Formats: sequence, structure tokens, C-alpha cells
Amino acid sequence: MAEAPFADDWKATPYWWEAAPRPEFVPIPLPQAVDVAVVGSGYAGMAAALYLARAGRDVLILEASDPGHGASSRSGGMAGGGLKLGYGELKAKFGQAKAAALVREGDNAMTFFDEFIASEQIQCQYQKVGRFVGAHAPSHYDAMARDADLVKKEVGLDTGHMIPKSDVANEVATDIYHGGKVTPSGGGLHPAVYHQEFLDRVMAAGVKLAAMTPVERISRDGDGFAVKTSRGTVKAKEVAVMTNGYTPRATQQFRRRLVPVGSYIIATEELPDDTMNRLFPNHRMIADTKKILYYYRPSPDRKRVIFGGRAKTRDVETRESGKVLHDFMTGVFPELKDVKVTHSWTGNVAFAFDKLPHTGVKDGLHFALACNGSGVVKQTYLGYKTAQRILGTPEAECAFEGLAFPTIPLYDGNPWFLPIVQRYYQYRDRVAR
Ligand SMILES: Cc1cc2nc3c(=O)[nH]c(=O)nc-3n(C[C@H](O)[C@H](O)[C@H](O)COP(=O)(O)OP(=O)(O)OC[C@H]3O[C@@H](n4cnc5c(N)ncnc54)[C@H](O)[C@@H]3O)c2cc1C
Repeated sequence: MAEAPFADDWKATPYWWEAAPRPEFVPIPLPQAVDVAVVGSGYAGMAAALYLARAGRDVLILEASDPGHGASSRSGGMAGGGLKLGYGELKAKFGQAKAAALVREGDNAMTFFDEFIASEQIQCQYQKVGRFVGAHAPSHYDAMARDADLVKKEVGLDTGHMIPKSDVANEVATDIYHGGKVTPSGGGLHPAVYHQEFLDRVMAAGVKLAAMTPVERISRDGDGFAVKTSRGTVKAKEVAVMTNGYTPRATQQFRRRLVPVGSYIIATEELPDDTMNRLFPNHRMIADTKKILYYYRPSPDRKRVIFGGRAKTRDVETRESGKVLHDFMTGVFPELKDVKVTHSWTGNVAFAFDKLPHTGVKDGLHFALACNGSGVVKQTYLGYKTAQRILGTPEAECAFEGLAFPTIPLYDGNPWFLPIVQRYYQYRDRVAR
């Protein structure tokens, strides 16, 4: 008998890899020269590669591990276009016009994503069930309502409707929230199947993919770049760095602008249909307004609960995080106390110091980085935008380009301060009223 809360066949690998086993890619011989070298084979790297190859460019993806080994085959699969910062915060920082443009860009990302999945006929169990964000405190409910009103009035976008505390059970069967907001756009998909189907389109477009080939250095070489990898050097006219929460020292100019954060997640054993339908009456994706939030959802087949969050202030083994997340889940749904965990895994997201997505060109290198916790939609979109920028088309225009991409003095990409910041965030969550 396995120790509670784990199932006898518990695995420390993503539940998603059951339906989409890790692809085995034999490392290809490296070409001497390509038009574009893309570093990283997640959604961002693949989107850039796909659109470039379809426009006739010779494209090579360089991937340190197997394709999609980063966050893109591990995520919660919750698809949304919202930003980490509310409209009010954006307005205070950038003024109304830029704030509106940023919010609209998030919405454009969502529209692009829906069209992309449909036009590419990507069969990734995408269900447009929308999202419910639970208010952790009454003041959070008021702030969400104010923000939604302001966005409607000043940006002209309807981002959803408020749900009073008395009606929360119609969205999710818990009494921990002080109301919440439903955003009807977006929904949930199977992230690893999305990655796999996406990769099929990328390979069919003629992209070369060198797996198990970490990039070690990128230096200027004539008009282009010499990209040194563990298996040799490739010349590239352009390079796109799409490494998000795994950004290496080889691109230190980006690494020092990103805070990699381990996100932890579990899948439960299968539950009866009536339990799942009661817990998630509208099958929505769920998140909350805490600084250290929970995100959870029914699995695409609506049989399991997928529950994620930051398990501890420090990084931990997935056995330990599995127990902690089970406790968190039981805090939301006490009736799941005896339900077993079958999978517990982790992956890295990347935060920017300003909590905004970033894309553009730095030191001649193109980039789309800083998902700030949610990148299924936005990293796909920014990969597309990166391709358009390299191709020089008008579609390249993007409100996330040209923002200052801040760092802090002496920061080298090792976020030693995370436990301190997270303890402070936990305190803020505790005292929120
Ligand atoms: C547990 C978890 C849950 C999440 N849940 C959600 C969610 O529900 N909704 C949502 O929208 N987002 C979610 N996210 C975030 C989302 O998964 C990411 O934003 C997105 O997958 C990032 O895609 P990407 O292509 O930018 O980077 P990644 O998919 O992380 O890919 C980066 C790649 O770069 C490669 N790489 C690194 N260094 C090198 C090198 N030197 N040479 C070559 N290759 C290199 C890595 O191996 C990796 O494969 C979650 C993330 C995690 C970890």
C-alpha cells in the first residue's frame, strides 16, 4: 500500500505524458548554416519556426532536451488571454492609451489562438469552457469588478461578469471564495497533445529539429551569428531565443531579466462523473486572486482533478509537493480528502520583474520571453509575432514589443530571493480582507 495520498502506481511525471508520450528524436546532423536558428522547442519556438518555414525560410530548432521538455508539455493547459497585471495597474504605470493597447493585445492573443487551433485542425481536446477566478478576499472581488467596468468603458472590451459569493457554487463547489469573475473566452486543452500536434505541423512545414543539442554560446559572425552547441556550431542569419523559464547562461542578457519559478501540479485518480459535475458544474478552468495562487480544472475527459500551485517557498521533490498540493486541494474541496494522487510533477515558468510578457530584439537576437505563469496562448502568439518581425511584415506590430525589459542590479538569473518574496506574498494573502 502506498503512503497517503499517493496511488500505488503514482508517477513523478506529468499526467499528460500518458496520452502524449515523450517523442524520441534522434539528434540530426547539424546543418552548417540556416536562415534562422530558434532556441527552444516549446510553443513559442514552434510558432516562430512554423510561420518562418511556411514563408520559405530555412529554419533549425535547437533544443537542449527532447522536444517540448520544458513547460509546454507540463502546464495546466488553461488557455486565456489575460495579463498578470490588472488594467488599473497598467494604467497607473503606462497611462491609458498604452494600458488599453496591452489589454487589447492579450485579447488579440486569445483570438489568434482560437483561430490557430481551428485552422490547423489541432486535435488537442480544446474545450472553450471559460474561466472562473475566485476572489480570495472581499476587497479582491471589488477590485476585479472595478477593473472589469473600467476595461469595458475605456478599452471597449467585455472581459466577463461578476459572480456574487452566493452564486459561487454554480461555478465551483467550494465556499472559500468571496465571489469571483467568469471570463467566457478561452478554456482548457491537453497541453502535451497540443504540443505533439503542433510539432507535427512544424515538422511537416520542413523545419529541422536538433534535439538533445543545448546552445552553449551565441556570438556575432559577419552579418549573422555563430550558434555554438554541444554538437558543433551553426551559422544563422537570425536567432530567436524562446527558452522562457529555462533560459540558459548562453543568453545571459535575457536570463538576468527573468525569474524562473517552479510551478507544481498533481492529477488525482479518476472520480465518479457525478462528483466531477458537482465540483465543476460548468467544467471551467479555475484560478484565484491570491498572490501565490491555486489553479485547477477538470482533466479534458472530466474524470480527474488537475490541481497546481507553488507548493513551498523553496523548490521541493515532487513527492513532497504532491502531498502539499493534495492538502491545498482538500482545503478547496474537503470531500477529496481520501482521493489519491496518481501524478505529481513540476516545470518552470518565467516572470519578468514588471510581470509583463516581452518580445523584441536585443543585441540582434529576437526573443519572446516571460510568460508570467500563463503562456499556452501568449507564448504561441508571441512566437507568431516573432516570425512576423523576422519576416518584416506589418503583422509583427505588438504592444508587448518595445517595453523596457527590466532587471535588478547584480541579478544573474539565480533567484535566491524567491523564498523571501514568497513569504511576504503569503503574509499578504493571509492578511487580505
Ligand atoms: C506546472 C506548470 C503549469 C502551467 N500551467 C499553465 C496553464 O494552465 N496555462 C497557461 O497558459 N500556462 C501555464 N503554464 C505556463 C506555460 O506552460 C508556459 O508559459 C509555456 O509552455 C512556455 O512556452 P515556451 O515555448 O515559451 O517555453 P518552454 O515550453 O518552457 O520551452 C523552452 C525550451 O527551451 C529549451 N532550452 C533551454 N535552454 C536551452 C539551450 N541552451 N539550448 C536549447 N534549448 C534550450 C528547454 O529545454 C525548453 O524545452 C504552466 C507552466 C508550468 C510549468
